[in-house]
Amino acid sequence: MSNPEIYDAIILGTGEAGKFMAWHLGSQGQRVAAIEKSKIGGACPNVACLPSKNVVHSAKVASYFQRGSEFGMVHSQWKVDMAGVRARKQKMIDGLQELHLNNFHKSGAEIVLGFGHFVAERTIQVDLRDGGTRTLRADRIFLDTGSRATIDPLPGLSEANPLTHVEALELDVLPEHLIILGGGYVGLEFAQAMRRFGARVTVVERNPRLAHRGDPDVSEAIEQLFHDEDIQVVTNAVAQRVEGISGSGVTLHLTSDGVASELKGSHLLVATGRTPNTQNIGLELAGIELTSNGHIKVNERLETTAPGVWAMGDCAGSPHFTHISFNDFHIVRDNLAGANRTTTGRQVPSCTFIDPELAEIGLTETEASKRGIPYRLARIPMPAILRTRTISETRGFLKALVSDDDGILGFTAFGPEVADLLVPVQVVMAANLPYTALRDLVIAHPTMGEGFISLFSAVPAKKL
Ligand SMILES: Cc1cc2nc3c(=O)[nH]c(=O)nc-3n(C[C@H](O)[C@H](O)[C@H](O)COP(=O)(O)OP(=O)(O)OC[C@H]3O[C@@H](n4cnc5c(N)ncnc54)[C@H](O)[C@@H]3O)c2cc1C
Repeated sequence: MSNPEIYDAIILGTGEAGKFMAWHLGSQGQRVAAIEKSKIGGACPNVACLPSKNVVHSAKVASYFQRGSEFGMVHSQWKVDMAGVRARKQKMIDGLQELHLNNFHKSGAEIVLGFGHFVAERTIQVDLRDGGTRTLRADRIFLDTGSRATIDPLPGLSEANPLTHVEALELDVLPEHLIILGGGYVGLEFAQAMRRFGARVTVVERNPRLAHRGDPDVSEAIEQLFHDEDIQVVTNAVAQRVEGISGSGVTLHLTSDGVASELKGSHLLVATGRTPNTQNIGLELAGIELTSNGHIKVNERLETTAPGVWAMGDCAGSPHFTHISFNDFHIVRDNLAGANRTTTGRQVPSCTFIDPELAEIGLTETEASKRGIPYRLARIPMPAILRTRTISETRGFLKALVSDDDGILGFTAFGPEVADLLVPVQVVMAANLPYTALRDLVIAHPTMGEGFISLFSAVPAKKL
């Protein structure tokens, strides 16, 4: 091993937690190296959250064109130009790259482009993108290597060269018939967007219903939405093998409810889960253990089994969201400054950006029942919120689970722009306020927030 270059801190992977840690420590005047093998800033701004929401929004515009006459708009000719959709997305990504580079520059943290792997405790070799290697050593190392789309060991699948979210976001021609393996949020968002652009879309889901971890009424509402938008859904489906090549034509052999069938499409998109990027990076040489799922083993302070090494974000098995990776950064940052923050019991809000949106925080009815937690249920349909009538988006509902001591246990919203309704609910939950704090607020009219008054007025009285 050549003489290592000494840093105060090394960050492996510039995902959400990693880049913020690099900027934080760098701006404190520490000597920081942030190693990145691919796109600076990680998945979110380059190949995941932000570009997918950018494309989802273009699809929303397409749906407005389709619905134009409903709003009194008469248009004669319009068409979807996928190259234009992609160009708008790319422009956003380019702007975000500039923002990231500026932040690195301002903080003084150095970016080292290449593949990093441990060669000894607290020592990382970087196989540089431009050739050659560098060996770096620091007393503090922060791992944020993220995750990638899982390609199941299904006969013919990897040979079919399927799209993942990365390639799907680069499409500049519309698939004729897109088959999507996996009905989780990534699959659902792509399914609706591609359908709205004009592709035929079939979602193949191994569970009995879409969004199967949530409540049945949520699954039913999404399935109805997809039915209305002419998106085919095959549930209880076990993929058996794939023939052909995505882009030129594929056949998916599957069994659904025990019956064998085959599905022919032009393209295949795989959205069946995530695999942590924890292999071939020499963790064993540095005393860093993995869990049985292949995530880096961490305690509730995100400390790994090696002293002076932390892991954050997807690679540490934290719930796979950008906001959670960001929160991981906050926890580690504050603990470095002497706090004692942990991941235990933190809120994990989630949003699925289909249209209308699905937003959830806290307990669902299914979880509460499974855990034997008593609750009172309030539920209102979307048309009860008058704002939805002004924008002709009345599909969906709000529901809340309320405890006997008037706390909010959980909140689920399916409706237009409901992702933004999560924050007030989260504040009430975090501050241990009663649900009446939202019910009795003066809320501007006509807004989606007014729904809180109707929803929380519908909480049944306590049983005496
Ligand atoms: C299509 C899609 C849409 C999504 N939408 C949302 C959303 O709307 N909201 C949300 O909250 N979450 C969303 N997510 C999830 C979110 O993108 C991830 O949870 C988040 O990006 C994880 O961030 P991270 O910090 O763990 O690391 P990542 O962003 O995964 O970054 C890890 C970085 O480490 C680098 N790296 C890995 N190994 C090495 C190595 N050995 N050497 C050097 N560099 C390395 C990688 O190249 C990568 O840049 C979405 C995911 C997908 C796939």
